[in-house]
Amino acid sequence: MPWDFATEPEFQEKLDWIDDFVSTEIEPIDLAFSTHAVYDKAHPVHEKVLRPLQEEVKARDLWACHLGPDLGGKGYGQLKLGLMNEILGRSSWAPSIFGCQAPDSGNAEILAHYGTEEQRSRYLEPLLDGRISSCYSMTEPQAGADPQQFRCRATRDGDEWVIEGEKWFSSNLRYAAFAIVMAITDPDVPVYQGASMFLVPTDSPGMNIVRHVGIGGEPEGEGSHAYVRYEGVRVPAENLLGGEGQAFVIAQTRLGGGRIHHAMRTVGMCGRAFDMMCERALSRTTQGEVLAKKQMVQDAVAESWVQLLQFRLQVLHAAWTIDQVGGHQARTEIAGVKVATPKVLHDIVYRAMHLHGALGVSNEMPLIGMWNVAPIMGIADGPTEVHKVTIARQVLKGYSPSKGLWPSAHLPERRAEARSRFAHLLDLEVGNL
Ligand SMILES: Cc1cc2nc3c(=O)[nH]c(=O)nc-3n(C[C@H](O)[C@H](O)[C@H](O)COP(=O)(O)OP(=O)(O)OC[C@H]3O[C@@H](n4cnc5c(N)ncnc54)[C@H](O)[C@@H]3O)c2cc1C
Repeated sequence: MPWDFATEPEFQEKLDWIDDFVSTEIEPIDLAFSTHAVYDKAHPVHEKVLRPLQEEVKARDLWACHLGPDLGGKGYGQLKLGLMNEILGRSSWAPSIFGCQAPDSGNAEILAHYGTEEQRSRYLEPLLDGRISSCYSMTEPQAGADPQQFRCRATRDGDEWVIEGEKWFSSNLRYAAFAIVMAITDPDVPVYQGASMFLVPTDSPGMNIVRHVGIGGEPEGEGSHAYVRYEGVRVPAENLLGGEGQAFVIAQTRLGGGRIHHAMRTVGMCGRAFDMMCERALSRTTQGEVLAKKQMVQDAVAESWVQLLQFRLQVLHAAWTIDQVGGHQARTEIAGVKVATPKVLHDIVYRAMHLHGALGVSNEMPLIGMWNVAPIMGIADGPTEVHKVTIARQVLKGYSPSKGLWPSAHLPERRAEARSRFAHLLDLEVGNL
């Protein structure tokens, strides 16, 4: 009977170790250094602080453990990664220390699948080793969720491809050694067959940053999401990844994983907000009793507990499904967690902030930072509406229209059928009367 919600004891031991390691060794890094430095591998914190911690993680067989052994991981799969990511989600730095930082984790998967041997040794190995950062450059200023409006072009010129166009919100480009860029190679067919993916070193001439866009609260121009112009950028023919017209097949390789990894870490973030909510409920006194005694506060705690448990099980189920049937077959489940992520984060963080009063919305608690993440989760990797469309389309494939005028659940017809089936008994019933 495989319906078992228990974690195997050996892996639970590892999770307990991770939990302690994140609290004692990693969370202080979050308090001392800016989140931007996570991707800036030239920052001394990487060599001096992160490297020894990464070695400890490797020694415990917990490094990049979603990847197979050929790529230096343990091949633990998504379910175990889900359980780990719930803990890692408490810290901006923890995923880097465990070798599963987005977008590098997804980009590594692309290079592993589609890179040449030379590209793998030049980019994949240092990326997996945490020595370089990478960028994924797909969204354009005029279009994100609708790729049919993409304009960035790549044209073949002898042994090279020439890339021309603009990209928007290319995260961490300022720190990246290479970008994986989507560009149209055949404008005469639908974009889903006419777009291709390229490996572009960030020191390529013609790759010009217009500005670094920040997200809410960051000073203008100092963010880490690049608005970039590709102005006649030339790359060798072998930098075309996976063949012409394959961009969306490749994008699925990385985005499916990326989406669920955000959700896994959001479980951790929600758990942290929930812990703060409960501590506050038991600590703050008003009108002669602690907040925890007020029924409306109990409602906030109970609603949050239910939402978090539902969300956690949904995420772990999606991870398990990916392990069973692969990311493509699990796209409904992945879209499901993508839809749930911003809503659950929003609701739980809002209640936690609210119970903290002014302190909750102040910059002296981490809650406002989490609050900013909720709308981002609804947009990054595709807006909620698009994922709802995916769910509805997939789910509706399992249904058919009703055969006649009335729905198949229409009671008069069903009752007539049932009565005719049991007519011999019903006749007796009438006869008895
Ligand atoms: C923090 C962050 C990091 C990001 N990092 C990267 C990155 O590294 N690389 C990269 O390429 N991109 C990145 N993006 C961009 C992201 O993928 C896009 O923002 C996203 O795909 C939405 O595109 P858009 O912003 O152009 O919004 P639009 O496509 O213009 O959509 C705007 C709104 O319109 C509505 N909408 C859109 N489509 C539909 C529909 N079919 N039905 C109903 N309503 C709809 C939704 O409300 C949606 O939010 C990042 C975004 C954020 C916020």
